Amino acid sequence: MFLLRIKLGPRTYVGDEQGAHKFLPRMHAGWDPTMTDQQVYDAARGWWRLNQRAEQERYAVVVAGGQCRLAIRITKWQQEGDRRAFAGDILGPGDLVHDKFVGKPDPANSTSRFPVLYLADPVDEATCRCGCGATVSRGEWLQGHDQRAIHDRIRADFGGSVSKFIDWYDANGPFASEN
Ligand SMILES: [Zn+2]
Repeated sequence: MFLLRIKLGPRTYVGDEQGAHKFLPRMHAGWDPTMTDQQVYDAARGWWRLNQRAEQERYAVVVAGGQCRLAIRITKWQQEGDRRAFAGDILGPGDLVHDKFVGKPDPANSTSRFPVLYLADPVDEATCRCGCGATVSRGEWLQGHDQRAIHDRIRADFGGSVSKFIDWYDANGPFASEN
């Protein structure tokens, strides 16, 4: 999983067109330092040119004025034409995503001018199961380390012989009795 990093430009008035919108009623897009969290949340919700992939993501962090201002748990998406907006909950202190990002610099190491980027989601980070100590952002293994874990066991218990391991597995593995 990833999280969305949303960068807001300068605040603009959009109330005439969007003030009465059913899914996202708001008076302003963009950001200025006088805005409340709720206003920043509404400014960050849409309407972004995003494809279907965005709808898998569960978190967004909002960057404005060079700093991460808000973290959001996404609960809903809506599409209009080629644009999407979301709804969700503003996260507070104690939440992993809030504590990792809010008040810190823009987490995206990117010069892209597109305001919405996908970042690897720290919520899913885990330590590689092989015991190497590396952090993995998807699944349980660093690439290739599942193979390494298997071969470590073959080395320890079968003298490094894949043939001995295969013979043992065929005789004792979960399907051995069916033969
Ligand atoms: Zn590993």
